[in-house]
Amino acid sequence: MARSTGRRRAAAGATGLRVGLGADVHPLADGRRLVLGGVEIPHPRGLAGHSDADALAHAVCDALLGALGLPDMGTRFPDVDPRHRDRPSLEFVREVAREARGRGFAIHNVDTVLFAEEPCLRPHIEPMRRALAGALGVPPGAVGVKAKRSEGLGALGRAEGVLAQAVVLIGAAPAGRAAGAPRKPRPGRARARSAARRSR
Ligand code: MG
Repeated sequence: MARSTGRRRAAAGATGLRVGLGADVHPLADGRRLVLGGVEIPHPRGLAGHSDADALAHAVCDALLGALGLPDMGTRFPDVDPRHRDRPSLEFVREVAREARGRGFAIHNVDTVLFAEEPCLRPHIEPMRRALAGALGVPPGAVGVKAKRSEGLGALGRAEGVLAQAVVLIGAAPAGRAAGAPRKPRPGRARARSAARRSR
């Protein structure tokens, strides 16, 4: 156990923390579904790309891969590979999060920003947070999603595409949690939360 914990600390570096940054942009096109953060959003146009072109999921993946010091999404999931055609991008997120846990890391939090002139993303923020959190194996409170407009400036402002940015913080997983296992609430805390809910 001590050796394994030591390896995790060594992997995470002296502070035990690692940060990753990701960004992605896809053009809006007719005849495509609009999927962001794993959520299908009703809109006449969707994002063009080889997979479902979920720019937000791709940015999160790249941030996590960067924190792990691994090659980027384009290298890991090439857009010439027919296995990835129209593939739901949350599967990429799930796979990379599983790899992070397998390497002895826990995901502390993820924060993201979407730039989209249209459609209005506000009603979809909460579903996106929950979908990303589910794929990452973290509580929804550990995922931030913010939507911005480009105020008419440039290609994004002309609603020609969507830009996503993501940052992720990871650290050595607490000793005792099996590699690959998502974070589970402690029974005592779950009981306390449920009692608090009942008293509201
Ligand atoms: Mg992409």
